[in-house]
Amino acid sequence: MRPSLLPSSLAVGLLLAAAPLPAQAVAASPPAAAGPRSSDTLARGPAPLTGTRVVAAVDSLWSAAVARGTRSQDGRPGPKLFTQGARYRLHATLDPASATLAGRGTLRYLNRSPDTLARGAPSTERVPVTGGVTVEALCVARAGGAAWRGAPAPACATEAEATRDRALAIDGTVATLPLAHPLAPGDSVELLARWRFVIPRGAPRMGQEGGVFMLGYWYPQFAVYDDVAGWQADPYLATGEFYMDPADYDVTVVVPGGMLVAASGTLRNAADVLRPAVRDRLAQAMRSLSPIPVVRDEERRAGTATLPGERLTWRFTATGVRDFAFYASRAVVWDAGIALVPRTGGGTDTVLVQALYRPDRREWRRAADYVRVSIERFSRYLWPYPARQMTAVEGVVEGGMEYPALTVVTAGDARELFTVIAHEVAHMWFPMDVGSDERRFAWMDEGLASWLERVALRGETGRDDDVDGVPEYWRMVARSGGEESVLHASDHFRSTLTYTVAAYERPVVALRAFALEYGDSALVAGLRQYGQAWRGGRHPYPPDFVRLVFAAAGDQRDAFATEWLYGTGWLDLAIDDVDVRGDTAVVRITTPGRAALSTTLAVTRRDGSVTRLPVTAAALRAAGRDGLVLALPDMRGITQLELDAERRLPDLDRANDRWPRR
Ligand SMILES: [Zn+2]
Repeated sequence: MRPSLLPSSLAVGLLLAAAPLPAQAVAASPPAAAGPRSSDTLARGPAPLTGTRVVAAVDSLWSAAVARGTRSQDGRPGPKLFTQGARYRLHATLDPASATLAGRGTLRYLNRSPDTLARGAPSTERVPVTGGVTVEALCVARAGGAAWRGAPAPACATEAEATRDRALAIDGTVATLPLAHPLAPGDSVELLARWRFVIPRGAPRMGQEGGVFMLGYWYPQFAVYDDVAGWQADPYLATGEFYMDPADYDVTVVVPGGMLVAASGTLRNAADVLRPAVRDRLAQAMRSLSPIPVVRDEERRAGTATLPGERLTWRFTATGVRDFAFYASRAVVWDAGIALVPRTGGGTDTVLVQALYRPDRREWRRAADYVRVSIERFSRYLWPYPARQMTAVEGVVEGGMEYPALTVVTAGDARELFTVIAHEVAHMWFPMDVGSDERRFAWMDEGLASWLERVALRGETGRDDDVDGVPEYWRMVARSGGEESVLHASDHFRSTLTYTVAAYERPVVALRAFALEYGDSALVAGLRQYGQAWRGGRHPYPPDFVRLVFAAAGDQRDAFATEWLYGTGWLDLAIDDVDVRGDTAVVRITTPGRAALSTTLAVTRRDGSVTRLPVTAAALRAAGRDGLVLALPDMRGITQLELDAERRLPDLDRANDRWPRR
């Protein structure tokens, strides 16, 4: 997600965040104790770790995972790492007149972990629900038999059996469904679900507005069971985003004729829904480096762009993705083209880039091209874009919200639109490809997307929006004592401002500090090895990030992370004191901001010569609060001392960088 840029809009975002959302994530089973250990602890463990507790406990949980062999000390996956799987076959009917979505589907969960889930205890399956969602049916259709492949006949497929299970317990956004049998390693369970909800207005991440429908978090979803913390079934509280396992989707969407549908997957039945002329233009777009109109303004009527028919069924599929969302409207036009990305191992692949928007949003005429630019730039900076298409759609959400291969955006002008699209496209790498937990560790995806947004802006315009390299909101709270560490779960910050700073801007501060200290190429190399280790929807934890991304920091790695990423320090290099002892100047350099970067002390002498003495971050850290003491000979010849004379570093207090003070 990316909040709108203006502070006033941020306040609006705060209010909206308190509004109830409809459907959200579901899922799973019994609480884990301190991480999954055995089926016994799974069944009988104490209350699940939630919120700040899991974040505070992350280091010991992570170390236990290393000991179990699912992770490695160097931050890479261990030989025993597992990632759970799911397969969703969903059918959605959108009724714009009543603004209702009716859904049904089969949801299959595969236990790839070595743990028997729910053995010996009332086994449970948790399913997502929220205040606005009516669950008409949710039942176990088939469990056991290791029948991951094939299509077993659901045991509760009849209407009567599919009525809402009396044992279903719904707590906020989490529903728990008992299983008759524990789910053994390698086994799967299939649920049958039917639900319905009124599509809200004013919800922060999805909803409807002016004939535009954005459906995100619209179906029951399994919670994540991972190798570090076990089940993650924190209830949805609006601020935090989500945590999902990679899954396969086969989704049909029924909409009135004339509506265009964009989705997280690949359209499988264009011939069933689009006129031949539109399909021809789409084929042409798939060869066009500059986006072209696929559906024009004058074609937005039923039977013109789409085939005749009161209702049309659009079918999409997606493989190994974290979620599935779709967008539908009769009010929009459609542009498409391609991006060129390097193929791993050589050659070039094409990615379909698309934009759907209401035609009076004139800045959107370049939106598909903004998608192209971001995909091409990030594919070079990181690794190739992980999907076959990417679509930006307009409306509904203030700022932007990401779903796999789909983002919904509202922006005030072309520059903001470019920035937000870049941010959301960056999310296709983090967390859509590198599947971190957005709820507990929002900074792991929002921080990287915020960094990449700056990479894109600098690539296009030569500069980003940070003044002197300092992000806007972080500048407001740094030095105030009010900043909160990134080590809080998203829902546990005191305010939207401190959450925004921690999730979006502190990581940018840390990554910029890292690049200044160790070089841009060291940062890029770190990000790439982090991606190589964890892409494909696997679930890195903060220690994995620090070990791989900050690898170039060597033995200063943990100190750097503590100061710059987890801490609330800032850079303030200060000449605290200059003491004259005979002909020697004893200079004390301190770091009142509690964070350090390497710099030089420029010593200017009466003859105009300037000598630069190294002042390293390691030496400043080692000196601690007392400060680093340097003895300079020939005191009488010195006319000026200055730290970071080139103004290369984001020092928040320049007044104490120089001696004599002015
Ligand atoms: Zn974001």
